[in-house]
Amino acid sequence: DHAMYQSKLAGKHRTQLYNPDYDQLIIQKNSQLEEIEQALANNEFELYYQPKVNMTTGDVFGVEALIRWLHPDKGLIQPLDFLPFIDDTPLENKLGEWVINEALQQLTQWQQHNILIQMSINISSNHLLSPMFFDVLKNNLTKYPTIDSQYLQLEILESSTLGDISIITDIIKTCQQRLGVSFALDDFGTGYSSLTHLRSLPVDTIKIDRSFVRDMLDDPSDYSIIEGVIALTQSFSRNVIAEGVESKNHGLMLLMMGCEQAQGYEVAPPMPASEFSYWLRHYIANQDWLLCGNKSRS
Ligand code: C2E
Ligand code: MG
Ligand code: MG
Ligand code: MG
Repeated sequence: DHAMYQSKLAGKHRTQLYNPDYDQLIIQKNSQLEEIEQALANNEFELYYQPKVNMTTGDVFGVEALIRWLHPDKGLIQPLDFLPFIDDTPLENKLGEWVINEALQQLTQWQQHNILIQMSINISSNHLLSPMFFDVLKNNLTKYPTIDSQYLQLEILESSTLGDISIITDIIKTCQQRLGVSFALDDFGTGYSSLTHLRSLPVDTIKIDRSFVRDMLDDPSDYSIIEGVIALTQSFSRNVIAEGVESKNHGLMLLMMGCEQAQGYEVAPPMPASEFSYWLRHYIANQDWLLCGNKSRS
């Protein structure tokens, strides 16, 4: 037994010293990076928009911009299948800047068509922490001068806002006070110190992670977590929204628990800008959504 253990150890050690897959991985990552950079130059990225609604009033008060890669051969590629490749590379900021510009351009267009909604953009924490972030945002807001910055919200991931809370806090405050944009803490509850984040980070909105929402109807602990998060956001005077609302029952339950804002497939999936304006007209005409207690549905 002991001998076998020794030889296993040795084997394990060998793999660490020499892993033939490693070079292959680096080559793959580099070619992926080149492909993504090329895709950016070729305009192959597109933002999809997912509506956010207030379940009490029925209002569509905002959208979240979600990036897609329309690959000429492979078709539609989802963000989690390409964003990880650009983590910690210069492309992370470059793509982030593309997203900001694209979203503000779209917001300007909607505004010209009298569609006044909040635009939420996902910002990676490296991008937020990069020294040029404030100027990038400021220059973009200057470039689209008709945009009222109160319609712009930045979503930052709870799980990646680790690092120094006081530094993040400074950046958030500077952007809020000098540019007038707001912040949401995304995927709330998945971080290692959610309560510290809730107490310390001056974010305007807390987004309850969809993993809690998914199981809340069956799993008493997830239900309790949501109940607790809603109570905490109320005592900290933060706005709260639930993501991943996939059924009317989820929406109803959340509404009863005091969370009015929802985003999820039950309301609408993320869609291209052209479809969004169509969806919105249809939604308003039919007062399509849900439950809304004060809307008569016969
Ligand atoms: P997220 O910011 O938490 O975005 C919500 C994700 O949940 C989106 O996935 C959306 O399509 C999905 N979703 C919406 N409603 C439902 C639902 O009812 N059920 C389920 N199961 N899922 C739902 P998506 O578009 O694949 O994006 C994944 C993540 O990639 C985002 O999570 C965000 O962290 C990141 N991401 C997307 N676009 C960008 C971007 O432009 N910049 C950055 N930095 N990250 C982005
Ligand atoms: Mg988000
Ligand atoms: Mg989220
Ligand atoms: Mg998420």
